[in-house]
Amino acid sequence: ARKKLGKLKKTPAITKDGTEITLLANIELPDDCPAAMEAGANGVGLFRSEFLFMGRKGKMPSEDEQFEQYKKAVVAMKGRPVTIRTLDIGADKPLDQAEHTALNPALGLRAIRYCLAEPQIFLIQLRAILRASAFGKVRILIPMLAHAFEIDQSLAMIAQAKAELREEHVKFDENVDVGAMIEIPAAALALPMFVKRMNFLSIGTNDLIQYTLAIDRVDYEVAHLYNPLHPAVLQLIAMTIAAGHKAGIDVAVCGEMAGDVKLTRLLLGLGLREFSMHPAQLLSVKQEILNSDLARIMPQTRKIMRSMEPGVIADAVEQLQLL
Ligand code: PEP
Ligand code: MG
Repeated sequence: ARKKLGKLKKTPAITKDGTEITLLANIELPDDCPAAMEAGANGVGLFRSEFLFMGRKGKMPSEDEQFEQYKKAVVAMKGRPVTIRTLDIGADKPLDQAEHTALNPALGLRAIRYCLAEPQIFLIQLRAILRASAFGKVRILIPMLAHAFEIDQSLAMIAQAKAELREEHVKFDENVDVGAMIEIPAAALALPMFVKRMNFLSIGTNDLIQYTLAIDRVDYEVAHLYNPLHPAVLQLIAMTIAAGHKAGIDVAVCGEMAGDVKLTRLLLGLGLREFSMHPAQLLSVKQEILNSDLARIMPQTRKIMRSMEPGVIADAVEQLQLL
C-alpha cells in the first residue's frame, strides 16, 4: 500500500465532485520539513515552535538562533506557507521539568498566557519569526487564545516587533497573516471575537477535546473518556468552520483528528477544506479525499450532527466510509 500511496505525492487532493482540499504538515523542528515535502504537503500548517525551547534546562534560544531555525523551515518548504505557532509551553510541554509546580498545569500559565506574562521572550520570538518571513511565506499562529485582550495584546506585540525591525531596516513581510488556535471551548463559543481580528483559524482538537470534556489528555486513567466524536466536540468544530468560512477566512484542523483517516469524511462533511497533520498520515488522508464525494457525505453528516446518541454517531461515522 505504501508504494501505491507514494504515487499520490504529486496528485492534488480533490474530491470526486471537484472540491480541492489543502493538506498541510505538522512539524516539530525544521528537520521534519523534508518529510513534509516528500509527502507532497501544500505547506506547514503547524510548526510547534516550543520544541526549539524544550530540553534546554530552561535556557531560551536567542533571537538569531530562532531566526535560523524558522528560516531553515521556510527555505526547506520552497515557497509553500509555513505556519509558525508561537511558544505553546506549559502543561504537557514544560519548559523545565523542575519548574513544573502548578497544580493544574493545563489550566495554568501556558502558551499565550505565558508569552504575555513574559513579553521579552515573546517579542524575541516574534522578531525572529518576522525576520524569517523575508525568505518565504510565513504565517503566525497564536495558541490558547480565549480572551479579547489576549488577541489585542498579541497583535500589539506583533506590531511592536514590526516597528522595531522597520526602525532597524531589517526586512520582513509587512502582510504576514496572523491566526488563532481555536482550542479552548470559550473561543469556539465566541467566534465573532476572532474572525474580525484574525486572518485565519486553526482548530486544535487535542486541547479542544481535553477542555470540552474535562479530560486530561495525558492521563491514561481517563483516556477512555477522551472522545473526539462527543456531540459537544463536534458542535464546536462545526461552529468554528462555519463561522470562519462565513467571515471569509481559512479554517484548518491541526489536532490529531485531521490525520485520522476514519474521520476524514466527517471533517469534509463539516465543511473542512484544510487539514494539517503528521507527514506520515498525509498520503492516506489524501487517498481518502480522492475517493470522497461531498454530495453524498453532506446529508449523512447532517444526520450525525442532529444526534446526541454516541452509538448512533459512531455508527454513522463508520457508514460515511462506505459511501
Ligand atoms: C491541539 O491542541 O490540537 C494542537 C494541535 O496543539 P498541541 O497538540 O501541540 O497542543
Ligand atoms: Mg494545543
